[in-house]
Amino acid sequence: MISLSLFENLGSGYQPVPVPNFDPDRIIITRGSYKTPQQRYLVEAICSVYPQAEIIEQLDRPHNRIQLDNPDPLKLHYTGKKTLVLGIHKSALRYSDEAGNMCPNYWHFSPYGFCPYDCQYCYLAGTPGVKYSPTVKIFLNLPEILNQIGRVASQLTIPTAFYLGKLQDALALDPLTGYSRLIIPFFAGQRYARLILLTKSVNVENLLDIDHKQHTNLSWSLNPPEVSSAFERNVPSPDERIAAMQKSNKVGYPVRAVIMPIVPVEGWKKIYSNFIENLLMSVPLERITLGQICSYSAALKLTERKLGKNNPISNRLEKVKSNDGRVRFLLKLRIDIYRSLIDKIKKLKPKLPIGLCMEEYQVFKALNMESAIGCCNCVL
Ligand code: SF4
Repeated sequence: MISLSLFENLGSGYQPVPVPNFDPDRIIITRGSYKTPQQRYLVEAICSVYPQAEIIEQLDRPHNRIQLDNPDPLKLHYTGKKTLVLGIHKSALRYSDEAGNMCPNYWHFSPYGFCPYDCQYCYLAGTPGVKYSPTVKIFLNLPEILNQIGRVASQLTIPTAFYLGKLQDALALDPLTGYSRLIIPFFAGQRYARLILLTKSVNVENLLDIDHKQHTNLSWSLNPPEVSSAFERNVPSPDERIAAMQKSNKVGYPVRAVIMPIVPVEGWKKIYSNFIENLLMSVPLERITLGQICSYSAALKLTERKLGKNNPISNRLEKVKSNDGRVRFLLKLRIDIYRSLIDKIKKLKPKLPIGLCMEEYQVFKALNMESAIGCCNCVL
């Protein structure tokens, strides 16, 4: 068991700060939220920073049984993005279950669910959990989640990653919860467990004075400004994200970048080449991962409701699903895109490790990158 004193301090002392890019219309408090005095403190403190939000108690319901009652999928999606659900998550630590692509499986955990941003391509919006419960969630039982991680970590014999960012944005809500101030010290005290966070946010203020012992890797999901402005709404700009990366790197965090999904808009070669140059000259990266659309039909339908059927993503998709049930761009296009970006990266930083996210064996083979299989953002 971890000592709860850190959480008690956090619970009684942390003052939530309203989150840029998130202004909920309603906050729904669900089953288990008031289980401990620390949880009650956090619920009340979070509610107090959004005095305009309607506060609804549904203490007989778990977090994933909230009904928003909107038959229109797009309206339901946006109602969900303006609904903050507070609750507890009993199975927040999981081992991933990928098959049919070259990604390794790995531990991931969820102190949050989904996120307040509005990326038009969001694949998470089509996953079953989000499709039926498309709200932004904060899980209040963080000490329990860390205890679960601690139990797995006690059995480890080699450094092993625990990933935060698979089913949420890792830092988008951190100013509200201050969770990074508990999670990062927890991993700093671990012999073998390591933390990898993935975010599009710029909320690093809570992280900068923590003694992280380099047991936490911070990873940013990025796209060039031309692509971000077309497909990422209500998200900090790429320049702001790069500034957050620089700040974090200055205090010793290893920093990674994930360029994903690469979208072949008109002029993409030059756009991505310029962006990669700017990124690599701005931040010393530990690893860079490239990825393209690898989504599910339900998420792509939502993308089309946002962008219309004739859009640069839908127009380039394969007609058939890949072996893992996802839909991707045409194989030749994917290989051409990777080749172009990899050439650029290698010219500028020949030694920088490059990963491909959620890709298939024939892509690694065509690029002569079989040795990079397993060099991913989600693992060490
Ligand atoms: S940041 Fe990630 S989870 Fe949030 S909307 Fe964008 S793609 Fe979806």
